[in-house]
Amino acid sequence: MRILIANDDGYLAPGIAALVQACQGLGHIDVIAPEQNASGTSNALTLSRPLSVFQARGEHIAGFRVVNGTPSDCVHVALTGLLPHKPDLVLSGINNGANMGDDTLYSGTVAAAMEGYLFGIPAIAFSQAEKGWAHLDAAAATARAIVEQVLAAGRPGPWLLNVNIPNRPDAASLPRLVTRLGRRHASEPVIRQTNPRGEDIYWIGPAGDAREAGEGTDFHATANGAVSITPLQVDLTDHAQRGSWAGMLGSPLA
Ligand code: MN
Repeated sequence: MRILIANDDGYLAPGIAALVQACQGLGHIDVIAPEQNASGTSNALTLSRPLSVFQARGEHIAGFRVVNGTPSDCVHVALTGLLPHKPDLVLSGINNGANMGDDTLYSGTVAAAMEGYLFGIPAIAFSQAEKGWAHLDAAAATARAIVEQVLAAGRPGPWLLNVNIPNRPDAASLPRLVTRLGRRHASEPVIRQTNPRGEDIYWIGPAGDAREAGEGTDFHATANGAVSITPLQVDLTDHAQRGSWAGMLGSPLA
């Protein structure tokens, strides 16, 4: 069993060290993570410059390889030449904060796992539901339990799971629900400030609150003391509306 672990918070983030530690004994582990915090970079690849890879040094991160790029860069480079073998499983995280509903479109954590999935490898993205790393050990134990479960099930890949774990000391013993993505309200307004040269600058506002958070959603599960496991797919086609568009545009369905 060969496991590739990446994240989007950067190689120094506590979440990836906790995930790597929790997965000890499951097989050979390669860790390839971004140099900088790359949260919110989605599936971006760096095409305008070459990428460098260096070995991390220090307690908890010894052996990690570091890429001066995005989360998708890390997994892409790993799978297209850096690793001498194809991993059996790609893990991403543990992220500092939720990746639920619309977050999944912006998330570098989900994107790193998705890059594995796009290369035909089973992949899981792990996030804690709240920022701040409270009860990270319990989240890591939960991640380990889920990895063990899916490995034992031996389900053929590719598949992609998005896991959000409540920040609780008893996370590993909470029920685990298979959910669907909820929806968020549109993001909060941009925050305008003035820089020292008197020019306007803009900070992207925080993500909106949950809008569709009813039973069955990831938001509902984590708000009610369960671990949320959402199977994801990548096809963005609006299958249900293809017929109505064909009629409206007078264009036959292909
Ligand atoms: Mn992040």
